[in-house]
Amino acid sequence: MSKKTFVSLDQIKEISKTYPTPFHLYDEAGIRENAVKLNKAFAWNKGFKEYFAIKATPNPFILNILKDYNCGVDCSSLTELMMAEALDFEGSDIMFSSNTTPPEEFEFADRLNAIINLDDFTHLDFLEKTIGKIPETISCRFNPGGLFKISTSIMDNPGDAKYGMTKEQIFEAFKILKAKGAKKFGIHAFLASNTVSNEYYSTLAKILFDLAVELRDETGADIKFINLSGGIGIPYLPDVEPNDISVIGENVRKVYEEVLTANGMGDVAIFAELGRFMLGPYGCLVTQAVHEKHTYKEYIGCDASAVNLMRPAMYGAYHHITVAGKENETCDHKYDVTGSLCENNDKFAIDRMLPKIDMGDYLIIHDTGAHGFSMGYNYNGKLKSSELLLKADKSVQMIRRAETPTDYFATFDFTDIFKNI
Ligand SMILES: *Cc1c(COP(=O)(O)O)cnc(C)c1O
Repeated sequence: MSKKTFVSLDQIKEISKTYPTPFHLYDEAGIRENAVKLNKAFAWNKGFKEYFAIKATPNPFILNILKDYNCGVDCSSLTELMMAEALDFEGSDIMFSSNTTPPEEFEFADRLNAIINLDDFTHLDFLEKTIGKIPETISCRFNPGGLFKISTSIMDNPGDAKYGMTKEQIFEAFKILKAKGAKKFGIHAFLASNTVSNEYYSTLAKILFDLAVELRDETGADIKFINLSGGIGIPYLPDVEPNDISVIGENVRKVYEEVLTANGMGDVAIFAELGRFMLGPYGCLVTQAVHEKHTYKEYIGCDASAVNLMRPAMYGAYHHITVAGKENETCDHKYDVTGSLCENNDKFAIDRMLPKIDMGDYLIIHDTGAHGFSMGYNYNGKLKSSELLLKADKSVQMIRRAETPTDYFATFDFTDIFKNI
């Protein structure tokens, strides 16, 4: 059971002289190569565009790298929209896919000329009242309900998800939007998360393409784009075949030709809002083993905790761990690898077989490039780590400094009480 790291023990030792652990490290070369592959896989579609889901890795340096590959951004909140604005993304490069949206976020999205993707039928009215009009370009999020299956395996349960409109609602929405002046329409759906399957996108595409033909026929709406959103996954477990994006692109192309081209809709653009697939494998959390504890189980305590990476605590998610420099040693010790929060779920691994860990060893926690740092929080007064970029030339750039106690106390009105900190 092995998984390759993009950083060596020697590099970590060197980096940690300047930037103490824990830190998130991103692999610039990996991010760039992967973005090229994505664009290549969908090059058959003239309007193809990836709107990177900012929430996965909200770092301006990362967004600027992706910008080199024609990526836009998918925002879901005010601050994400502000980041898009600060980085000079144009309106057509910003997708605003939010839900339970506060009015000021619609206002701001409209001011940026972002493409608004409506999560709910009642948002038609809400949006119109809030911004005083219906935008010319508008998208609606679809939820087909029921179970979403790929081959024999049930992948997810859209019927239980809070997102999107029913089929009846999306037809009604398109009619109303058109009557109120909308001219360019989009359809969006996100039905299953982290699918490690080359079938997900094309299965979803078939549902949305069929819907697009029906919507055009019944409402006369001019459908300009279909947004397949996020959900292409990565193998967190070792020795699992990753998705092949070129196969995924090809599978979508086949359905596109069968359904859209065949129905005279061969000019519809395909949009994506991938997060995990774009960044997940190209980030890791580096932490140092600082304590060992021998009670009813064997524990390794490290200087990172769930505030730096919440997925294991929150969903019991597996993240592979490599003990730097011990890549070739036998995994003959069973450990719980823990952080320091006063929460028993603050464990990066439970009963994990690893090589013998000595105090001071560096642990590389894999696949934290998406939904890693970004899910961080400050429980127990713990501070968020720095984010570092391992550049293509192997130099390291700090792309976000670590939080300090001053940051933690900055939201009190009476900061002067803490002026001695
Ligand atoms: C989270 C999210 C994404 C990205 O999902 P991944 O699983 O990271 O690909 C894309 N679009 C929307 C609307 C999301 O909420």
